[in-house]
Amino acid sequence: MDVLKLIEAQREYFNSNETKEVGFRIAQLRQLYSAIKKNEALLEDVIYKDFKKSKFDTYTTEIGLLYIDIKQNIKHIKKWSAIKKVHTNLANFPGKSYTIPEPLGVTLIIGAWNYPYLLSLAPVIAAIAAGNTVILKPSEVPENTSNAIAKIIGEHFDPKFFAVVEGGVTVTTELLNHKFDKIFFTGSVPVGKIIYQAAAKHLTPVTLELGGKSPAFVLADCNLSVTVKRLIWAKFLNAGQTCIAPDYVLVHKSIEKQFLEKAKQEIANSHFTIEDNNYVQIINDKNVERLVKLIDPAKVFCGGKVDVQSRIIEPTILHNNSFDDEVMRDEIFGPILPVIAYENLDEVIAKVKARPKPLSCYVFTESKAHKQKILNEISFGGGAVNDAMMHIANPNFPFGGVGDSGIGSYHGEAGFKTFSHYKSILEKSISLETPLKYYPHTAQKLKWAKRIMGKLS
Ligand code: NAD
Repeated sequence: MDVLKLIEAQREYFNSNETKEVGFRIAQLRQLYSAIKKNEALLEDVIYKDFKKSKFDTYTTEIGLLYIDIKQNIKHIKKWSAIKKVHTNLANFPGKSYTIPEPLGVTLIIGAWNYPYLLSLAPVIAAIAAGNTVILKPSEVPENTSNAIAKIIGEHFDPKFFAVVEGGVTVTTELLNHKFDKIFFTGSVPVGKIIYQAAAKHLTPVTLELGGKSPAFVLADCNLSVTVKRLIWAKFLNAGQTCIAPDYVLVHKSIEKQFLEKAKQEIANSHFTIEDNNYVQIINDKNVERLVKLIDPAKVFCGGKVDVQSRIIEPTILHNNSFDDEVMRDEIFGPILPVIAYENLDEVIAKVKARPKPLSCYVFTESKAHKQKILNEISFGGGAVNDAMMHIANPNFPFGGVGDSGIGSYHGEAGFKTFSHYKSILEKSISLETPLKYYPHTAQKLKWAKRIMGKLS
């Protein structure tokens, strides 16, 4: 595919102003909805081929969330795209002040593999709602899902408005050589840096949805049964291949043993197996190899078995861990949960703060003071108190990282804003002209300027 021709065709189409009509945007969102709806069976089949994701998980963690997102955008699009009045200050009196949201133009969206439908199409929904054209580059890693997305979008959309370009590093590099009006990237921190640098050449604004090591604090005063149930579900969903999965647990020493025993029991109760449709394969051999090296046999509390051939790693809990262990260096992104016991909350908070800012943080406690302390002292993208990962299911939240875990946010209105520019317009009345700013600059005018501008009320 000639990438330059595609970009030029999209730019020409964008300049026709057709995508700016709210009615057009709603119609395209409806089209996307029906394209997905018609192809649910295909989407379920191919994701199972790629890494054995079940129909239930595919619907509840990808397709269903896309429907919710589309519905929310259609419901609010008129309000979000409306001109908004802002207060007019004295210096501009008499006049009106308002902002006009406008689409950015031709956008490039680059997806990650771990939730291949959600992470490709959720940003597309926001881009379309805001009135942009879209070139989507899904992750090439799950090949069948990438092919299916390209096929479905190709059948339902004109490429001058919304096109899918498939491929890996070479194709993405070629795309990045060209100028876009916005790049939205989901993926790893190292690749995020490559994207940021490429975008800088054209001064293209970027949103980077990255990863990191998200801690889960389990305090002595938590409800342990509820904590373990929610934490184990969140960690082992998608075999831990989730950007907001709890990466490691910080448990208070006094409840460490009970926590470990309950967690082991919960894993047994949860039937994390492909046969029970409640587990997935590790995405490829490279990742199996990487994860195996993180399982220190001396630290395995439960699990630890690996079937290299089938790319299955048992849910594994490690114990007696410290911040210096190999497993604590990079994001795990797999079904391995290291547990670090702590005694002093201040000390362990300081250790977390000394690391890159995480995408998520989870706090399990019934103490208001402890909750507030952790939420106040640690900087992270988003998270939950007494739960893990479910914040992503609330479309009213902006979703995104901070520091090393990302730049910018999306979902709901945050997504609309991410793909929009807000033009500030002062509309001045011609009925009155105040002389203050014009020459001559008398002492009297300066006195007035000081009175108006320099007073702290
Ligand atoms: P990745 O960075 O390897 O790949 C992401 C995308 O970048 C893919 O489309 C890939 O083709 C492209 N890419 C890879 N190498 C490239 C290069 N050298 N130049 C240009 N493009 C390149 O990430 P991944 O393995 O697909 O996903 C896993 C990572 O993504 C984890 O770190 C995870 O935490 C993060 N993630 C973040 C979120 C979020 O919403 N914040 C969601 C999912 C995954």
